Amino acid sequence: MIKIGGAANVDVSATCRDVATLALEGRRLVLVHGGSGDTNRLAEELGHPPRFVTSPSGHTSRLTDRRTLEIFIMATAALNRRIVSELQALGVNAVGLSGLDGRLLEAERKAAIRVVENGRVRIVRDDWTGKPNKVNTGLLRMLSEAGYLPVIAPVAISPAGEPLNIDGDRGAALIASELQADTLVLLTGVPGVLRDFPDESTLIPHITVAELPDATAAVEGRMKKKLLGAREALDAGVQRVVIAGSSGDSPVRSALRGGGTVIGAVHETEAAPAPERAP
Ligand code: ADP
Repeated sequence: MIKIGGAANVDVSATCRDVATLALEGRRLVLVHGGSGDTNRLAEELGHPPRFVTSPSGHTSRLTDRRTLEIFIMATAALNRRIVSELQALGVNAVGLSGLDGRLLEAERKAAIRVVENGRVRIVRDDWTGKPNKVNTGLLRMLSEAGYLPVIAPVAISPAGEPLNIDGDRGAALIASELQADTLVLLTGVPGVLRDFPDESTLIPHITVAELPDATAAVEGRMKKKLLGAREALDAGVQRVVIAGSSGDSPVRSALRGGGTVIGAVHETEAAPAPERAP
């Protein structure tokens, strides 16, 4: 299970080339992508600039009113088509989908969200975001077993059939969990989790499950969501989550070899000090 970030500094073409190499070797892969950078650009162009809100617990997210939802769908659809066409050009039979198609990814709409503005909490009702909670694994397995590579945009479907903006990392974590993927790779614009962001020399190579709560508290902004997604996936039985950079010739293979930040129980025993014996 591979998720490509949506920020402007993510190398989509390098990732597609690497994914193609692995797919042509016979690896079964599923791809989820983001779209934040393209959504911001399109929103500016269409005269509806992006707005971000902070929850009382300190999480920042995009305010998705009806118009922003339309722009998000347009931007992620275009990126989805681009990824599918790059993979097709490389000989991989990719199929582009969103969570709407075949109810691939269902989410619960948050009818009202609490945001902090000028130190005061306000309720926002015109928001079209959701938390993914159900995956049509049958559809993904069917495609995968027939030799297709699913490429999924971060748009989910509500119980009422409405499209919802979801966080791509949380979507990828849920799909990895439900498919019981061995590895979830989150490719992003930074080389991994940095102890002292943005200093890349402070990359944290391993985070054990036991260390994850402290690491999540220590990082800022969007990296927090990735670590929350990692926790969900590991709790659900995914063996490891790798957060890694998307640049270089082989970002996916490098992540699978442990480049970036590896999070998982696999390293728990290695990292734990040997118990001291009484002399
Ligand atoms: P994507 O769009 O690829 O999913 P995001 O940009 O949403 O990725 O999330 C990764 C971002 O998290 C980084 O680009 C960086 O700005 C931010 N970040 C905050 N704290 C850290 C940290 N400690 N280590 C790495 N990145 C961090």
